[in-house]
Amino acid sequence: MKIIVLVKQVPDTYGERKLNATTGILDRAASEPIIDEISERALEVALRYRDSHKGTEVVLLGMGPASVTAALRKALALGADSAVHVLDDALAGADMGYTAAVLAAATIHTGYDLVIAGNESTDGRGGVIPSMIAEHLQRPSLTFLDSLDILDERVSGVRRTETGTVDAHAALPAIVSITELAPDVRFPNFKGILSAKKKPLTVLALADLGLDTAALSSRGHSVIAKTEQRPSRTAGTKVADDGNAGVDLADFLAARHLI
Ligand SMILES: Cc1cc2nc3c(=O)[nH]c(=O)nc-3n(C[C@H](O)[C@H](O)[C@H](O)COP(=O)(O)OP(=O)(O)OC[C@H]3O[C@@H](n4cnc5c(N)ncnc54)[C@H](O)[C@@H]3O)c2cc1C
Repeated sequence: MKIIVLVKQVPDTYGERKLNATTGILDRAASEPIIDEISERALEVALRYRDSHKGTEVVLLGMGPASVTAALRKALALGADSAVHVLDDALAGADMGYTAAVLAAATIHTGYDLVIAGNESTDGRGGVIPSMIAEHLQRPSLTFLDSLDILDERVSGVRRTETGTVDAHAALPAIVSITELAPDVRFPNFKGILSAKKKPLTVLALADLGLDTAALSSRGHSVIAKTEQRPSRTAGTKVADDGNAGVDLADFLAARHLI
């Protein structure tokens, strides 16, 4: 079984996250880049399966700037077998359509039985990349799974809905995405950290995938027209209780149409 885990590098969730006001593109220098936690959970799901199924290969796939290589090395230290980094200057500012097309091409290039992704990234939060990749690959997708069972020829899982749960399954090869209910990623051990440096990490450019920007943009893509900083917070209103605080609070809420 060959499992590809989609690993996205994102700005540190607890750091300052900024868009470049002129280009609208993510300002990567504004905060430390880290592996998205949901990608780490996807990796843990793959590693747990591999731990109990000899012959399983876990390949990491990430698209992004040069710093993504470090993220992939870190994920290799956790136990993945190899990694693929799609790196091309032409991908700066890639929207979801571009990203899905490129990740799908890299998935085909790498070969796979199963692709495991996070349900939505911490930064873009599109929540659609796994389904878009499945469409490119013309393979089934099971998304937003709270639990996942990988069998020899099929994959199944449980998805929460507003009214209950849905049990779904699909024949392999397939694409799945997992939710934050997937297990926390393990800690790297010393052996893993040492061996990560020697594990294969392939860097691919668009041309290696038989793609170019003309082909990608022929379908059109979204462009950020304008970005605006969120206004800084203003001081709150203090309601002093001089015996009339209840009425003052009710007036405050009513003035904002909150009651
Ligand atoms: C016009 C436009 C310009 C943009 N410009 C930039 C930019 O310059 N720099 C930038 O960082 N972002 C940019 N983005 C956002 C970026 O394109 C999205 O983050 C990306 O397309 C993935 O969408 P998402 O994170 O919302 O995916 P989701 O669907 O929320 O991701 C779900 C899962 O898919 C996988 N996945 C998603 N993206 C990747 C990836 N790149 N590599 C590996 N796995 C992945 C992960 O497993 C993730 O958990 C731009 C978006 C738009 C619309």
